[in-house]
Amino acid sequence: MSQNLTTKALQVHALLVRYYEGPFQHPDDNDPLDELIGTLLSHRTRNENTAEAFEALQDKYEDWEAVRTADTEELVQTIYSVTYPGQKARRIQQALDIIKSENGGSLNLDFLKTMAAGEARKWLEQIPGVGAKTSAAVLNFSSLQVPALVVDTHHLRVAKRLGWVPENAGIAKARKILEAALPDDWDAQEVYDHHEAIMYHGQRCCYPKNPECGRCPIIDHCAFFDV
Ligand code: SF4
Repeated sequence: MSQNLTTKALQVHALLVRYYEGPFQHPDDNDPLDELIGTLLSHRTRNENTAEAFEALQDKYEDWEAVRTADTEELVQTIYSVTYPGQKARRIQQALDIIKSENGGSLNLDFLKTMAAGEARKWLEQIPGVGAKTSAAVLNFSSLQVPALVVDTHHLRVAKRLGWVPENAGIAKARKILEAALPDDWDAQEVYDHHEAIMYHGQRCCYPKNPECGRCPIIDHCAFFDV
């Protein structure tokens, strides 16, 4: 992103973090493997249903190793509250197999802390079902505390309306552009605040249909409103 766009991102960051009363509580005690499983469950699923499935996994199985070796049909039934439970059960077991076999038999993601951010992201994205949003969530929303930017659908919509990314950009492309705009010395908390503030804005004001531009705190920075 150009220096100009970096300046814009910093201005909008300051306005939105203040407006939504940040800084926000960073989930720095979250285990990265828990985050990965939770994010795999969450695709196209309401938060409460994701939480229900995650709790059901924790109640039924002693640990992730028990989930890895569980009967797949039983696992599907356990996570039935999410969308696509069959596909998600298989993806979760596949992810656990890959992590165990590539991590010397250990079922955790703590080793990612020793890698550079880009390398850790690439490692995660080799796992089927793990894309740009999931890899960044594992790295940022956890005890790994990597300054990786999560871009979800709300964040993407707001970034497009602000004119920061092309209209046809998907999450992977947008993430590259938006992350490159952030200062190199930002830590995990600052990157987290940036995402949270923009996501809240998408959820609470810049709606997919009929955004409430009349009460928008960043209206002066918005290309969509200009149009
Ligand atoms: S002015 Fe409207 S479209 Fe632009 S960011 Fe604000 S709410 Fe969204």
